[in-house]
Amino acid sequence: MLHIGCHLSISKGFEHIGKEALSLGADTFQFFTRNPQGGKAKDISADDVNRFRHLAAQNNFAPLVAHAPYTLNPCSDNPQTREFAELALTDDMKRMEYIPGNYYNFHPGSHVGQGVKTGISLIIDLLNRTLKPEQQTTVLLETMSGKGSEIGRNFEELAEIRAGVKLNNKLGVCLDTCHVFAAGYDIVHNLDEVMTKFDKVIGLQHLKAVHLNDSLMPLASNKDRHAKIGEGLIGSEALIRFINHPAVKNLPFVLETPNDLAGYAAEIKFMRQNYIE
Ligand code: FE
Ligand code: FE
Ligand code: ZN
Repeated sequence: MLHIGCHLSISKGFEHIGKEALSLGADTFQFFTRNPQGGKAKDISADDVNRFRHLAAQNNFAPLVAHAPYTLNPCSDNPQTREFAELALTDDMKRMEYIPGNYYNFHPGSHVGQGVKTGISLIIDLLNRTLKPEQQTTVLLETMSGKGSEIGRNFEELAEIRAGVKLNNKLGVCLDTCHVFAAGYDIVHNLDEVMTKFDKVIGLQHLKAVHLNDSLMPLASNKDRHAKIGEGLIGSEALIRFINHPAVKNLPFVLETPNDLAGYAAEIKFMRQNYIE
C-alpha cells in the first residue's frame, strides 16, 4: 500500500490535522513543529494527542514527518542562531515524545562561508548534544538542492554527518525529489543509478521518508523551487516510476507541492492510482 500525505497546518491541533489528512485520502502528513520562521511552539494538549493517536491507529497511519523551522541552522556563523538551533531542537525532541515513533526532519544547515568541513562538524556537535538513547523519534537529515552554502547537497555530506553522530541509529535521511534533482541527481533518466549511489554512500536502510515534489528548476540548477506533480521538469512519469521503485515503495511520501487542499487530494489520488501493489 502506498503511504502518502502532504504538508498540513497543525494550528488546529493533532485530531484536526488527522481528520483533515483522512479527508484528503492521506495516511500520513507533515507539519511544522513551530512557526517555520522560528519562535515559540504551541503547547501540546495531551487529550488532543490521545484522540489523534486513536484515530491514527484505527486508520493505519504510516509514520508522520514533523518538519523543523527553516531558521534552525546548527552551522550558522552567528552564535545566537546556533543557540536557537539547539534550543528549538531540544524542545522539539521533548515534544515529539508525545507522538512516539515518528520522524523529525530538518535541513542540515548552511555554513554561510565557513566551509563544508566546519559546517558538518557543527551539525555533528549539535546532534551529539541533543540526541538521547531513550528517544523514540528518528531525526531525518533532508537532502538539499545545494542553494547558497547548504550542507546536504550530496549524499556524501549526509553520510559524513551520520558517521560523526554517536547515536546514529536515531538518525536517518529524508529524500526530497525536487532537491536531489536540482542538486544534480538525475532521477528522471538514471533512477536506478541514483538509488544504487544512495545505497553505497549512505545505505538504503537509513532512508526513512520521501518528499515528493516536482521541480520548476532544471537538473543540477541548485535552485529550490517546488512544482505541482507533472508541472515541473521531473514530470509525472518519472515521479510514478519513483514511488514504485523497490528502494522506496514502502516509505511514507509527503507532497510539498504548491497546492490547496483540493489540489493535494487530487495528487494523492493520482499517485495512488498509479501505484503498483
Ligand atoms: Fe524541507
Ligand atoms: Fe522538502
Ligand atoms: Zn524545497
